[in-house]
Amino acid sequence: MDNQASISTLLELIRERDSFAVTSHIRPDGDAIGSSLGLMHLLEAMGKRATVVFVDEIPPNFHFLPGVDRISSVFPKADAAILLECDSIVRCSIDRSEFDKAQPLLTINIDHHQTGREFADFNWIDPEAAAVGAMVYDLVVATGVTITTEIADCLYAAILTDTGSFNFSGTAASTFAMAERLIQSGTSASKIARAIYACNPASKVRLLGIALSNLQIDEAVCWSYVTLEEMESVDASVEDCEGVANHLIGIAGIEAAVFLRELPGHNEFRLSLRSRGNVDVSKVAETFGGGGHQSASGCSVEGSLSEVTERVVGQLLSACRQLPRQVVKAPQPSTLLA
Ligand code: 5GP
Repeated sequence: MDNQASISTLLELIRERDSFAVTSHIRPDGDAIGSSLGLMHLLEAMGKRATVVFVDEIPPNFHFLPGVDRISSVFPKADAAILLECDSIVRCSIDRSEFDKAQPLLTINIDHHQTGREFADFNWIDPEAAAVGAMVYDLVVATGVTITTEIADCLYAAILTDTGSFNFSGTAASTFAMAERLIQSGTSASKIARAIYACNPASKVRLLGIALSNLQIDEAVCWSYVTLEEMESVDASVEDCEGVANHLIGIAGIEAAVFLRELPGHNEFRLSLRSRGNVDVSKVAETFGGGGHQSASGCSVEGSLSEVTERVVGQLLSACRQLPRQVVKAPQPSTLLA
């Protein structure tokens, strides 16, 4: 089914129903929160009842988004559940037992991951989309609903964060056209960027310092980690670890990077993988039961720090060694300036 057909079918499914539970993945990021809230505002503009559900904490830098105060941690009674950016029900930020109690209900999956799976009753997966917020934007446009400032704020935040501030490879001319329309509809690029990127807790910056001092490089692969003890030493939260991996892949000549965060309780690490676009890190994440995109993916791996590092860095090194020689070459400052 192409995108237009998916949008028409989805709108029919929505129009036939009254109430919706909207959620996204665990440890929600900007796209998960912004697209969920943007969709909630759209559904309400269509005369529907909508509840956004997240069991996990919403990071403080997204607390400004309109509707965030209405997010529930309890799964509501609803005619359909719309799951954004998830490859399974297990990856959703909802209490599985609450979800099961609410059955049977229609499940709708909207995703843009390369590793997206058709796990729901209706699935709209578009790996070309820059963000799920961009897919929700297309849905808004198809309904003809007026783009309010609330919708514009939420979708702009989703698109801004999931494109790495309009830097990642999925960023197309159409992404800027969306941003333009959202700004014309009342959002402010500087207000959103300030709220998201310029209100970090001190613990996040201290944690970044620790992660950067643990940084190691071998050939075109960079990796770093933080242990639970190190997180505790600066009073850092899980959310404070967001974005560390992007610093690693920003080093000249690095083709693939991984940031490891120790998980509480047992011998396990949470991995954030990044690439410059030449190595497909979603394939590496999939071998450990995770997923994501070609340039950004994640997974959890059991084992000690040295075992996990050896396994994942080994895979990244061998993926980099398969790249053509001219790709794996640190750019010289003169070529950067040319
Ligand atoms: P991050 O490293 O920022 O947590 O995640 C990078 C990308 O990979 C995001 O698009 C995220 O949704 C996806 N991702 C992270 N962890 C997992 C996982 O365990 N499973 C799947 N399917 N995707 C993941």
